[in-house]
Amino acid sequence: MLQAKSKNGKYITPALLPKNRLLQLKADSESFYCPVCEEKVILRAGEKVVAHFAHTANANCPSSGGGEGAYHEQGKLHLYEWLLGQDLTVELEAHLPEINQRPDLLLYYRKRKIAIEYQCSRISSDEIISRTNGYKRTGIHVVWILGERLLKRKGNKVLKIDSFTRMFIHQFTEAYPLSLFYYCPFTRNLIKFQDFTFTNKNRAMGKLTINRLEALTFPGLLAKEFLPNYQFATIWKKEKNYFRLRGRGRMFGEERNWHRWLYRKDLQFEKLPAIVHLPVSGAYRMKLPGWIWQSWILFEVIAVKPNGSVITTQACNHIVQNYLFPSEYFPLIVTPVQPVREYLRHLCSAGILRHVSADSFHKIAEIHLPDQLETAMIEDGDFITELFQKK
Ligand SMILES: [Zn+2]
Repeated sequence: MLQAKSKNGKYITPALLPKNRLLQLKADSESFYCPVCEEKVILRAGEKVVAHFAHTANANCPSSGGGEGAYHEQGKLHLYEWLLGQDLTVELEAHLPEINQRPDLLLYYRKRKIAIEYQCSRISSDEIISRTNGYKRTGIHVVWILGERLLKRKGNKVLKIDSFTRMFIHQFTEAYPLSLFYYCPFTRNLIKFQDFTFTNKNRAMGKLTINRLEALTFPGLLAKEFLPNYQFATIWKKEKNYFRLRGRGRMFGEERNWHRWLYRKDLQFEKLPAIVHLPVSGAYRMKLPGWIWQSWILFEVIAVKPNGSVITTQACNHIVQNYLFPSEYFPLIVTPVQPVREYLRHLCSAGILRHVSADSFHKIAEIHLPDQLETAMIEDGDFITELFQKK
């Protein structure tokens, strides 16, 4: 931890002290105490570490576990100084006894309390949920900023997002884009990934914004950035091309099972309709790639019914429910969307379904299968263009 109490109860943050003062502090061998458990803590300072306090090896303090090391301490300190520099009221490692939590930073901003957690190591999903919900219970907003070393970049608009990172997706209001935040204490870069859509089960493409911390204000951190529609459409067309042409030599697991399913359904991969593998913003909730669950809905539910039949979101949800992350898995998202409902709306745009109510549709046309790969690819492009003109 970066802060401890002195004998007279004053808080001290050695990392913010000038070097001579720090050396004096060490030489004086004054005693410092943990603000949480009141036990004596040891001042650690040197060339290679951010000056901080550590508990003794046998300490039994809730704040002593999960030490995240110098990387974390350095980043936390940067963020603290950054907020102080904007004349904001911010507390470092504030202890909140009513929920027994200690956010890295507690910011007082426009009559709101905002906990800022700088998370650099992997913790359990239970812990992420319980910490986030703890803040919510006491009316504190929370922003989780991940250590940049957890960022897996795959292109200038593409990140790999595993099931751990997925839990840190923020959406403060319904109109706010899906967002992830990262900070690197080495480069002092604050990285935002926003308005993204999963293209695969653990890859997403969206708007990546990189700023030096000092070039950004706190409202700038939370500012919404969007990927323009034309860019999104262009990338999705490439994605569809890649999907059509990718090698299918060795397949495992769900992909192999899916190809077996296609075979049983007498469907050829090359001639799948353009409405398989469409962009769905709620795809972050799916444990399967879009082409799998979307083709299940098309050929298990819709294709088997005659025109005029009623198709419900519920019936379609039924076949994918085992592959849906529960909404509790996203404690930072205000209202997790229904990917299936979103997909059925795309099918309305495609002229396959017609809305009856929010979750009920009429089938109005049969699913058209292209006759060869070339036509399939042309139809893919045409439909994506159409979809984004409507959007
Ligand atoms: Zn302690």
